[in-house]
Amino acid sequence: MKHDSLVTEDLKYIWHPCTQMKDHETLPLIAIKKGVGIYLYDFEDNSYIDGVSSWWVNLFGHCNAYINQKVKEQIETLEHVIFAGFTHEPIVKLSKRLCALAPKGLEKCFYADNGSSAIEVALKMSFQYHKNRGEKRPFFVSLSNSYHGETIGALAIGDVKLYKEIFEDILLKTLQAPVPKDQSEEAAREAAVGLEKVFRANEGKIAAFIIEPLVQCAGGMHMYHPLYITLARKLCDSYDIHLIADEIAVGFGRTGKMFACEHANVSPDFMTLSKGLTGGYLPLSVVLTTQKVYEAFYGDYAEFKAFLHSHSYTGNPLACSAANATLDIFEHEAILEKNEEKIAFIGAQLERFKGLCNVQSIRQTGMIAAVELKEYPIDFRVNLKIFEHAMQKGVLLRPLGNIVYFMPPYVITCKEIERMMDVAYEAIVSVNDL
Ligand SMILES: *Cc1c(COP(=O)(O)O)cnc(C)c1O
Repeated sequence: MKHDSLVTEDLKYIWHPCTQMKDHETLPLIAIKKGVGIYLYDFEDNSYIDGVSSWWVNLFGHCNAYINQKVKEQIETLEHVIFAGFTHEPIVKLSKRLCALAPKGLEKCFYADNGSSAIEVALKMSFQYHKNRGEKRPFFVSLSNSYHGETIGALAIGDVKLYKEIFEDILLKTLQAPVPKDQSEEAAREAAVGLEKVFRANEGKIAAFIIEPLVQCAGGMHMYHPLYITLARKLCDSYDIHLIADEIAVGFGRTGKMFACEHANVSPDFMTLSKGLTGGYLPLSVVLTTQKVYEAFYGDYAEFKAFLHSHSYTGNPLACSAANATLDIFEHEAILEKNEEKIAFIGAQLERFKGLCNVQSIRQTGMIAAVELKEYPIDFRVNLKIFEHAMQKGVLLRPLGNIVYFMPPYVITCKEIERMMDVAYEAIVSVNDL
């Protein structure tokens, strides 16, 4: 199929995610023919640096030869099997490895097939944990500006108005505590005071507190200090509230360490993982939890303590094989060590944006960097203008409103980082005096 007919037929039959479809009357939909490493290719053979890792999932490039090979081997062996009452090699191997890598105390893996579902699992597990112990705790607390996915439960504990507002009437009531306003220790302390207020006002009624450790990605790459995680852990302990670390976006090295909680040396009661888990290949998610939580569900069938939650594709072997291959690459190629140089390079490159008069601030946590522009009127569509400018120059950037961010696959070179930043710089300059 040629590019033009692909696009025409796409728009005839398909409704795209997170998109006002009318935009495609003027904004061309881009058909991608193939991917190689950090590059995506369209049907005219134009290449684009995937500066957003295809929605933050890709770690080691598109069509990575090693992951391809591992998934091919698996597809010839076992494509899928029911996961209640049955098991398979890739998932046992993966679970053992995840428990070894995860912060201490996380010893059990419960699988689902996307990030939002993992959030639903963690919330339900926490609620039922308390219930199984004879306590009714109907509330969940999250941070202001947080994002945890878009299914009804995940939406309810998130706080991004754009996604949530329309559905407010049908959502669970949840509580929000203030997110630290910046990356300083002072802001972390201040926010912890706010958190304790919420805990104290609802004592005995809160099941869990959920955070995106260090970076609220969908909330505009808002970043805060690891001290906040330490303080939150202490407060959760003293109020007997579960701490859920949503590492769906920040896990697997994005913040410079394997998991963001490691920056604070904190073990959560639940950790949710997805996105980078399969290197960006296949949908898979997992909730890691403690032996203590697991045991609260363990008993005779007639006690009705079991966690009755399932998804048809739970623990899909192909997805697990991609996840194992991803972990192999981390192991064999010392990725976290190699990323250190790239992280420093990104930091140095970021400096030049400070000089632009439409730039409000810059920030970085590990392999995630953001340039916050001044506010533009909503109908100015500054994000679209930057996107289009950058695509013209061969870089895929997808700003969140007025926040231009970079979250490239780890196989990007310093030279390619520089090119990506050059293009972003030009794009930001192009909207400077409009
Ligand atoms: C993407 C994301 C989710 C939701 O994952 P999906 O697979 O898109 O449902 C949840 N939490 C965070 C922090 C995310 O970035």
